[in-house]
Amino acid sequence: MTDLERRQDRSPVPSGWDYAPAPEARDILTLEERYGLFIGGELVEPGSGEYFPTIDPSSEEPLAEVAQAGKEDVDLAVRAARDAFENGWSDISPAERAKYLYRIARILQERSREFAVLESLNGGKPIKESRDVDLPLSAAHFFYYAGWADKLEYAFPNRRPKAIGVAGQIIPWNFPLLMLAWKIAPALAAGNTVVLKPAETTPLTALLFTDVLRQAELPPGVVNIVTGDGRAGAELVKHEGVDKIAFTGSTEVGKAIQRELAGTGKKLTLELGGKAANIVFDDAALDQAVEGIINGIYFNQGHVCCAGSRLLVQESIYEPVIEKLKLRLKTLRVGDPLDKNTDVGAINSKQQLEKIRHLVKSGEEEGAEIYQPPCRLPDKGYWFVPTVFTNVAQSYRIAQEEIFGPVLSVLTFRTPDEAVEKANNTPYGLSAGVWTEKGSRILSMAQKLKAGVVWANTYNRFDPTSPFGGYKESGFGREGGLHGLESYLDLDESEARGG
Ligand code: NDP
Repeated sequence: MTDLERRQDRSPVPSGWDYAPAPEARDILTLEERYGLFIGGELVEPGSGEYFPTIDPSSEEPLAEVAQAGKEDVDLAVRAARDAFENGWSDISPAERAKYLYRIARILQERSREFAVLESLNGGKPIKESRDVDLPLSAAHFFYYAGWADKLEYAFPNRRPKAIGVAGQIIPWNFPLLMLAWKIAPALAAGNTVVLKPAETTPLTALLFTDVLRQAELPPGVVNIVTGDGRAGAELVKHEGVDKIAFTGSTEVGKAIQRELAGTGKKLTLELGGKAANIVFDDAALDQAVEGIINGIYFNQGHVCCAGSRLLVQESIYEPVIEKLKLRLKTLRVGDPLDKNTDVGAINSKQQLEKIRHLVKSGEEEGAEIYQPPCRLPDKGYWFVPTVFTNVAQSYRIAQEEIFGPVLSVLTFRTPDEAVEKANNTPYGLSAGVWTEKGSRILSMAQKLKAGVVWANTYNRFDPTSPFGGYKESGFGREGGLHGLESYLDLDESEARGG
């Protein structure tokens, strides 16, 4: 008997094929009990003395206490940013600015495991996503914009690019560090200083980032971070010392900000919600398309503004697609965000979980058919089973409203024109996906879809060189690429016209 046969004899075939737990170690991370506001290069106490706990949404355990910035704190932060802009940052040579950005990028790479663990702990997203997507992309944004910092004259020839001053930046909770990188990297590359407000539920990676700034020896006041709830964001928007506001978040708050800024002359970019159509034609490679559908809606628990939350399937392939989709759904592992095998982590907050539940209930009440794979959820924390709705009419709320959770609504179409009409039948216009083997069909669909980003035979692909942003109620302005620099610069229009 060979060795192998003997071993097989002794180890019976396992009764189940469950994955053994593979948790990422937490000991790389040291958290403070309490964090202040990062103003003028120091963590300082908030004027009000008010702090609030921030938790791990997968266990509801508190992680640390975070400061609530009030009006006077926001004022201090804006003054620190103005002072840094006028007394140094706007005068240093662009090549020097680039060096700081390169340093930040490299430190983020070096400390990426620490940041990935914290991102998953505070936000609920699976470690394999924070490790393989959020962190590499955050570093890539700093590298990319570091490259532009000393080439602005080439980026915008004959336009005399100038920094605008102090940028106020407000970010959401779905990609906390990545959204920080999207905002801070182009602003600094263009020569501005910033005051950034992270989301109330996910402030910790922004606070750890202040340590990266100290390590990189960025001059004090160039980046200021004020934590707190929406009130802190509202104070930043109102502040007269801010020259530009960049906001990513809900359409409702985006509209309020636009109203507030009307007539003030402040620059504004808004990156808001979405209800993207992921369109599968009958000539698509179905297994790849199913992977794209899964990635499109269950990536980051569906907390993605460009999520492919409406699946449009050509009628002739409806049955095999749904069958494959349900089969694939059964293999998704929902659970501990720090486990390397987890596909779907925790919902970011109780409030978001309630919103998802409410919209799912409306889908059932309006007559859609719900499918959820068998799935055991942890007892504590905020969780939602990956869900598919079939029999969905375009008028249902689950086909119209942004759920921002792991919930897919399936609709069908017969012709490309019908697909375009249904895909565009939404107040949003952020992204879309097209699955087909025909290049000509991809080009024709991309022209007709009213979406800022159209992915072809892939989904949720991000790259710092590629502009990202929306149409209609998904906002305006672009982040990423050269377009992303433009909104942080004053460009001499008369030069551009040759005047
Ligand atoms: P918000 O739009 O409220 O939050 C985005 C950011 O804006 C947060 O930092 C928030 O602070 C801040 N903020 C809140 N109110 C104001 C205000 N009046 N002025 C200035 N800043 C403000 O989104 P929510 O977190 O409440 O999520 C609600 C819904 O929005 C989600 O269910 C989802 O549908 C959508 N959403 C869309 C996102 C996208 O990327 N398109 C991202 C996040 C949410 P605070 O965290 O304290 O509230």
